[in-house]
Amino acid sequence: MQIGPQGTLKKANVFTFTNVKLVPHHLGVTFVIDRRLINGSKIGSELAEDMTKAGLDRIRSCIQCGTCTGSCPSGRRTAYRTRRLIRKALLGLREEVLSDPNLWLCSTCGTCTERCPRKIDVTEAILYLRNLSCEAGYMRPEHRDVSHKLIETGHAVPIDDEKWSKIREELGLSPLPPTVHSYPKALKEIQHIIKQTRFDKLVNYKESKKDGKT
Ligand code: SF4
Ligand code: SF4
Repeated sequence: MQIGPQGTLKKANVFTFTNVKLVPHHLGVTFVIDRRLINGSKIGSELAEDMTKAGLDRIRSCIQCGTCTGSCPSGRRTAYRTRRLIRKALLGLREEVLSDPNLWLCSTCGTCTERCPRKIDVTEAILYLRNLSCEAGYMRPEHRDVSHKLIETGHAVPIDDEKWSKIREELGLSPLPPTVHSYPKALKEIQHIIKQTRFDKLVNYKESKKDGKT
């Protein structure tokens, strides 16, 4: 949408498409998102292309119906809006999407994926964007800490206090679960997998340790 000389809106230039293949023709127009005007020169198709290459090609068929947002249990209680995030991703607002803290409010429940009328795997798209966000260095400190715990103990939330074992016993369970806690030798295997998949690099493990951030 463009603003005319007197501040009036020129309807002829209003675009609501989400198909980013149209982007090269958008350079002279302005888009509306979040009630903001975004110049066409600031948008691009690179992010949508990356998503397509990652197997999320159906994302391009999003019709911005809002079913994902309407179904989202997280969005009911937070500022997270699934449809808005998808639109921004399709418009190629890479930095804005990857740096958005709301990206981390999705609980990956999968409801949006089940209900999307275009059969888009929305949850998978959110996870993909989170991976890019980590690679770009936007991982939240809380999530990084949890990842480091996984590397160090084999558990994102380890039983590191006697009280948890006591609670387990009160519930009729063994003091420790049948995981790395009971089989400490398995930790080496987990750490090997983490190294092979470069998860340690993704969560900046060594660098954070060196900086004393953990
Ligand atoms: S439900 Fe599917 S088609 Fe509708 S806005 Fe969400 S991703 Fe797009
Ligand atoms: S998977 Fe995430 S975005 Fe989709 S409905 Fe659940 S919380 Fe919302």
